[in-house]
Amino acid sequence: MNDSGNQCIMQGIGVSPGIVMGRAFLLDRAKLKPTMEKIPSDQVTAETDRFLKAVANARRELQEAHDQAVANSVDSSLGQEHLYLFDVHLMMMDDKMLIDDSVKLIREKKINAEWALSLNVEKIGRIFSRMNDPYMRERQSDINHVAQRILRHLMRSDFDSIDKIASGVILVAHDLSPADTMQLNLSRVRAFVTDLGGRTSHTAIVARSMEIPAVIGLERATEMINGGDRLIVDGIEGRLIINPNPDQLRAYEERTERYHFFQEQLQRNRHLEPITRDGFTIELAANIETPEEIASALDHGASTIGLYRTEFLYLGRPDLPGEEEQYITYKGALEQVGEHGMTIRTLDLGSDKLAAVHHFHEDTINPAMGLRGIRLCLKHHDIFRTQLRAILRASVHGRAKILFPMISGLREWRQTVAFVDETKEELRRGGIPFDEHVKLGTMIEVPAAAVVADLLAREVDFFSIGTNDLIQYTLAVDRVNEHVSCFYEPLHPAVLRLLVQTIEAAHGNGITVSLCGEMAGEPVYALVLLGLGIDQLSMNALSVPYLKKILRESTFQEAQKLVQVCRTFSSAGEVEAYVHEQMANRFPDDFLMKL
Ligand code: PEP
Ligand code: MG
Repeated sequence: MNDSGNQCIMQGIGVSPGIVMGRAFLLDRAKLKPTMEKIPSDQVTAETDRFLKAVANARRELQEAHDQAVANSVDSSLGQEHLYLFDVHLMMMDDKMLIDDSVKLIREKKINAEWALSLNVEKIGRIFSRMNDPYMRERQSDINHVAQRILRHLMRSDFDSIDKIASGVILVAHDLSPADTMQLNLSRVRAFVTDLGGRTSHTAIVARSMEIPAVIGLERATEMINGGDRLIVDGIEGRLIINPNPDQLRAYEERTERYHFFQEQLQRNRHLEPITRDGFTIELAANIETPEEIASALDHGASTIGLYRTEFLYLGRPDLPGEEEQYITYKGALEQVGEHGMTIRTLDLGSDKLAAVHHFHEDTINPAMGLRGIRLCLKHHDIFRTQLRAILRASVHGRAKILFPMISGLREWRQTVAFVDETKEELRRGGIPFDEHVKLGTMIEVPAAAVVADLLAREVDFFSIGTNDLIQYTLAVDRVNEHVSCFYEPLHPAVLRLLVQTIEAAHGNGITVSLCGEMAGEPVYALVLLGLGIDQLSMNALSVPYLKKILRESTFQEAQKLVQVCRTFSSAGEVEAYVHEQMANRFPDDFLMKL
């Protein structure tokens, strides 16, 4: 951090791009800190009732916020994909561990409800913080939010009202729950900054889907900022400037203008063909986690949904989705994409994506190497069959392809196909229609699969390369561990060789190959991937216009030359440096290479 008088520049994590200048609205989210009071035995029942009444009031209030958000999402462009987070909070209000154990503490220790709740939340916090899974660790903050909501009712503190927010402000908060974020009135809040939060937090996801510029993880923003301070939020660089001086203001006014111009041009061209100057076409597709993202994906110019990560249907809920629920979801999604078509990936639970239902997870100290993806499905036939039946039944309602995650070789592939065949037979016997010709593809994300891609390509309808995992497993770098993130090198010669080998195997056997890892949406890698001859790049919807711009301003020939040079280097550093330099020269625009 760089301090000068009351001015200050802070560096955080830019999770949603855009530049906004405005006044700070400090959301008073100071944590309520209850104190302990002993209560006489004859008041224990009254104290328990007081606690349960506060829970009921907090629940009612949350339900109202949920209903409001539903109403807003119907008549605004905001999808309903994050409404389930309200459900998670509502569920927590009924949670045995949170509510019943607090009541038990009031009774057993004869203490006030506030203190009992705090002790209990502390205990739950200790359990959650020991969990390896970042998704579950993030649930700890949900529990804290829910507990604070109940505490406010117990302590009769007024909820700091988001309604009080004046027009056109930048919201500054210690932390925002996804539920808070969804309640933000978009016409009033232009950007937000928070002390807490990481790239994978739900707040970040909601910010991106709402397209509100946001910088999070600033650690001390609420300490440094006073309400009414003038702020500049740079969601591209992850930078926050407090009370900028005239030079900084001028520089940012100019930067904002350039950024808007840049965005306008991109948006104007988003529905053009992704074709290079020498006539080579590469398909640009979008990845989605929920069907509510389809409209935005198509609007950003994606020609198809290249990866639907269905495991998100299983997350953030206490049960497993049944066949009918899944069928309705997939059918609706396929009808919505229509002619564009959609690649539905079967569930890839395990590793960092754990469902609340634990019965099929195994304790392991190395979850990325544990029971995950297809292996979990092939072990838990009931879960796999339910999903396959739902996808196959839905396949008659649109253009579906089915993709299987974490296949490592032919044995797993053949087991998978045998299982699909059995499921199809079951449907046929029941007279239930499905698309008999639905294409079956495999993710290439386990290095072994890339090494035997030639063998797989003879039996598989299409490949989709998952570089997020392929890089993780090839370079032995945990993709969610910030301590080894500097070793995560997408252009490492080993990765490049695996990519080349996979693409050659696919094309040698007449099948298509997509790439759907995060790398696909990073502008700096666009020409390398084009030059490698990938047929489809599938990415987050926001990146589609950036990639389109690069492709339309390049030639396939120059991309091939770039790849040729890359393949002569012997270290990742050399390849990365060369590609960054070439791309910075080719696309000197200072925004494009940072997005
Ligand atoms: C990948 O591994 O690159 C991929 C697309 O799958 P996920 O990120 O869901 O593991
Ligand atoms: Mg993967």
